[in-house]
Amino acid sequence: MVSVSDKRVNISQDNPSIVFDKTKCDECGICKNTCKFNVGVYGYTNEEYACINCGSCTIACPNKCLSEKDETDKLKELLKSGKTVVFQIAPAVRVSLGEEFGIRPGINVEGKVVTAIKKIGADYVFDTTFGADLTIMEEAFELVKRIENKGVMPMFSSCCPSWVKFLEMFYPDFIDNLSSCRSPISMQGAIIKNYFSKIKNIDKDDIVSIAVVPCTAKKMEILKFDDINLAITVRELARLLKEKRINLKNLKNSSFDSLMSKGSGGGIIFGTSGGVTESLIREVYRILYKRRPMGRLLNFNEVRGLSNVKEAEVTINGTHLKLAVVNGTGDARKVIEKIKNKEIYYDFIEIMACEGGCIAGGGQPRKYVTTNSLKIKRMKSLYKSDKKMKIRCASDNPDIKMLYNGFLGEVGGSSAKRYLHTSYVNRKNNSKQKNI
Ligand code: SF4
Ligand code: SF4
Ligand code: SF4
Repeated sequence: MVSVSDKRVNISQDNPSIVFDKTKCDECGICKNTCKFNVGVYGYTNEEYACINCGSCTIACPNKCLSEKDETDKLKELLKSGKTVVFQIAPAVRVSLGEEFGIRPGINVEGKVVTAIKKIGADYVFDTTFGADLTIMEEAFELVKRIENKGVMPMFSSCCPSWVKFLEMFYPDFIDNLSSCRSPISMQGAIIKNYFSKIKNIDKDDIVSIAVVPCTAKKMEILKFDDINLAITVRELARLLKEKRINLKNLKNSSFDSLMSKGSGGGIIFGTSGGVTESLIREVYRILYKRRPMGRLLNFNEVRGLSNVKEAEVTINGTHLKLAVVNGTGDARKVIEKIKNKEIYYDFIEIMACEGGCIAGGGQPRKYVTTNSLKIKRMKSLYKSDKKMKIRCASDNPDIKMLYNGFLGEVGGSSAKRYLHTSYVNRKNNSKQKNI
């Protein structure tokens, strides 16, 4: 029986992302104030609470009685399975995992993460910045096509599973506004099982695919597809490394494995609020002008930072675009209401459930309180890494070109649709759809 309270968030027993330990709870109410929408409304029974799995409450709870569903035992089993174990590391992981090992917040530890994951038994380690580039290839093409064909606008980003679930639950009339693109980890998962397996001549059922993520909601997202066997949060990875007495601080750097080794700078900034929009606009420029973006579009300040709603306008080869970046579902609700009432117009809206984007995700370390100053350190580190990259735009990534030339064919074509896109469900008053 679930213990129900109106002082805190209520977590159903079958929640795939979050667990609650009542013994430590003093009903302080902080989690309830953090959760940006009313849990337990919309006709669910007392034991069936609406939750978008974002994990923001796990970051906020001072007593750590709300936590990610710990799947480190499953991870250990998969590592011993005898199958080919392939990891991918999401963009925001590299600027936070170090905190668990006494490294200053915001230091980019991607090389050490690769070494650590190889030490625990991975055969291949790929960078999800590659999946982010793939997302941008498809999403920028989709946006340009919607504009040309006068499709449903504004187009909403779709890479945050909590935001997608929020829309499916509370605003299903807007489902057609969501980009049909899967998220970066999901696209990369499909490519690992269907392309990497072919290149390496491994049966896809003999591949174990694991994503390391800053996000508790990804545990829910992967239930929709069968391409990823496990999504583990930064906190779970840190727990396993500590159990195995692997100290990240003492490790040398290693490189990601080839084929999906690196994304562009645009792929790196996916880990922060505004990063999807900035990467998208770089690629839209590439499509409409057929040349590399320069200047403002490589340093798109209007969409950077922690403001609740960031707005920008840009004209690319005669096409004028009005953009918005929304931090958190509280403001998403306000923006959607204004769109419904025709009070505002945008062409593209990026929405991330966590305030600050994945750098402030629900699976991130809790060693320090997640203040704005901590978020800024993680955020700035991603922008610094983007700036250092020779390749800043998805379609300039040679691995991406090779994937389209050798496997997917056309951007937005039939293979791309099959492996990289998805559809959505109306979850409103549909209890069967409440948790997955
Ligand atoms: S924040 Fe933690 S301690 Fe406070 S009410 Fe929520 S679960 Fe309980
Ligand atoms: S995981 Fe997110 S939606 Fe679910 S209760 Fe916690 S804060 Fe609310
Ligand atoms: S903003 Fe990022 S970390 Fe937060 S729920 Fe969305 S995808 Fe997960």
